[in-house]
Amino acid sequence: MTTDTVMEATPDRVRRFIFEDQPVRGHWVRIGQGWRALREFRDYSPPVRELLGQAVGASVLLAATLKFKGTLTLQIQGNGACGLLVAQCTDDFRFRALARAQGEGTATELTPELFRWLVGDEGRLTVTIESEDSDLRYQGVVPLTGHSLVACLEQYFASSEQLPTRLQLAADADCIAGLLVQQLPGAREEQESGDAEVTGPTAWDKVQQGLAAVSRGELLQCNAEELLIWNFKAGDVRLFEGSQTGFGCRCSTERVSGMLKSLGEDEVKDVLREQGAVTVTCDFCNRPYTFDQPAVEALFGHVH
Ligand SMILES: [Zn+2]
Repeated sequence: MTTDTVMEATPDRVRRFIFEDQPVRGHWVRIGQGWRALREFRDYSPPVRELLGQAVGASVLLAATLKFKGTLTLQIQGNGACGLLVAQCTDDFRFRALARAQGEGTATELTPELFRWLVGDEGRLTVTIESEDSDLRYQGVVPLTGHSLVACLEQYFASSEQLPTRLQLAADADCIAGLLVQQLPGAREEQESGDAEVTGPTAWDKVQQGLAAVSRGELLQCNAEELLIWNFKAGDVRLFEGSQTGFGCRCSTERVSGMLKSLGEDEVKDVLREQGAVTVTCDFCNRPYTFDQPAVEALFGHVH
């Protein structure tokens, strides 16, 4: 079965799962159509595309772990070939993302060496959570010292005193996939008070082993049921229906119209005279919005 046929059967989704009677929870995501829509107006070399896809998957998984109304932004800034990468996901799982990169890698897979080449040696990863309902804003920053985005994100979770968290991310031209598992409060105390020799590996140990055993190919090709049944033997898994996720940039004809109006009629008409049409391109998704002469006239209220 190819990735494409799987995609047709399963729309882009993020799903939560729990282990019955175990203090462990997780989220799974897979995105096909939305990943291709995100890149409709912008082309990336394969290593940058893979890193961008992983960041999108991570932003959706991180948003899924939160109870919030607003936007989560994951940003990579560094002195490597990819100086800036931004992935955003809202509480209703609309994502958008961009990367600015110099130099075209020819490799088809993102190796640890390529990851270091892309982020450089002075990079940092910033996670920002902005709430819509209030002025609340949370920001966490970690240095990009690991050899993968996963390693850097796990470091972020460890350093920001959140739940112990492990994850796996994968992306190719057609698909983004990710799995995230978290140890819930209470589990550590139980583990520490119990006799490890008698109780054996904990549910959290087993889940981490299961996650580590998931290959990139499995993550990209398999559905949530298959992945969880094959890899997590920590007990009964309950998988929830989850939420639809998809590409959604905030740009629109209305927003661009408003921006052109604020520039003023004289300036917009100067551009129209010079270039024959006024084209504004979205910073995020690179979608062009073109206004020809009648559109510009209509914008400034001149009806013919
Ligand atoms: Zn846009």
